[in-house]
Amino acid sequence: MPFTVKALQKTGPDQPFRVAEIERRDPRADDVVIDIRAAGICHSDIHTIRNEWGQAHFPLTVGHEIAGVVSAVGEAVTDWKVGDRVGVGCMVDSCGECEQCRAGQEQDCLNGNVGTYNSQDVDGSITQGGYAQKVVVSERFVCRIPDALDFDIAAPLLCAGITTYAPLARWGAGPGRKVAVLGLGGLGHMGVQIAAAQGADVTVLSRSLKKEQLAIDLGAARMLSTSEDGFFADHRGEFDLILNTISADVPLEKYLSLLKPHGVMAVVGLPPSAQPLHFRSIIGGAKVIAGSNIGGIAETQEMLDFCAEHGFGAQIETVGIDEVDATYDRVVDGEVYFRAVIDTSTFEGAPVAV
Ligand code: NAP
Ligand code: ZN
Repeated sequence: MPFTVKALQKTGPDQPFRVAEIERRDPRADDVVIDIRAAGICHSDIHTIRNEWGQAHFPLTVGHEIAGVVSAVGEAVTDWKVGDRVGVGCMVDSCGECEQCRAGQEQDCLNGNVGTYNSQDVDGSITQGGYAQKVVVSERFVCRIPDALDFDIAAPLLCAGITTYAPLARWGAGPGRKVAVLGLGGLGHMGVQIAAAQGADVTVLSRSLKKEQLAIDLGAARMLSTSEDGFFADHRGEFDLILNTISADVPLEKYLSLLKPHGVMAVVGLPPSAQPLHFRSIIGGAKVIAGSNIGGIAETQEMLDFCAEHGFGAQIETVGIDEVDATYDRVVDGEVYFRAVIDTSTFEGAPVAV
């Protein structure tokens, strides 16, 4: 039988969050039911629910950094059992048959994957995300959270972790490589920790130096302020790889000038508006500008294990369900160091608005 759970929901882009009861589907044979313990707040949640990327489907619950415990499994589930510590990221289904799915690249499913929220599910309904008490998801889209990682520091890895791990692995952020992480927010702080653990020489490029000591503590060799006079001239041609995590408009061509010849800018930040680019800024120096979209399920598991092995998770602050609206503003203002995570136990006793 379908069942209801409490969730944080918005009825429109300018409406506050409210506690609603939303329906979760009757678990299918291959489904896992997860009691959500922690849900990270990704900037993509904000872009989506504020209609910055286009019209969202309201009423909507967002959240695609989910960590919790398996509370029930369908009769065909073999890989998971009640009590397992698990996570769900940005996808909850894909065709499973196309060449991308078969290669473990479900994020690039040729038939279109199903996003964890605001996405049309195979049954035609609109998916609802992880700011909720429970979620029901196909066992193929579940990852194991290593015992070394608490739920709250693990949840952000399901999006911010894999989104930075995949391009750093793809473009080789190992020893001897000069890697710049552009923007020190949720994604950026994971990028710094991962690239440092991979052995790269990591520089953080931020709007100011106010997070300098934090950047060093995360494993960066240095932090530079992009607002300083002469910054772009002084650091021209310095980096092998730039991981661009910025959520707003930036002068892309100036940042490309920071790459060495044949250098790569891997873009993961997705500002709402188009970013102008003249080809001269990549033709000179034969530079590469590459997009990257989260990562596949197998690689997400690899990333979780990598983080546990290297002894780090996300650096977080925990918020209750009544603090999420205010936290959104703080994320946009760059005041959250570095990920806010919703403690879903705060749903208990909360009155339902509708
Ligand atoms: P976040 O925590 O808000 O971090 C974004 C960072 O961008 C900020 O910390 C800030 O760094 C920098 N920034 C913000 N406004 C800026 C401005 N006006 N000028 C220059 N720098 C600015 O966001 P997030 O959760 O890390 O997400 C970052 C972006 O990645 C979002 O657009 C999100 O939608 C996207 N995303 C993409 C994927 C993917 O698969 N490709 C996955 C998840 C998220 P400083 O304060 O250090 O300057
Ligand atoms: Zn995200």
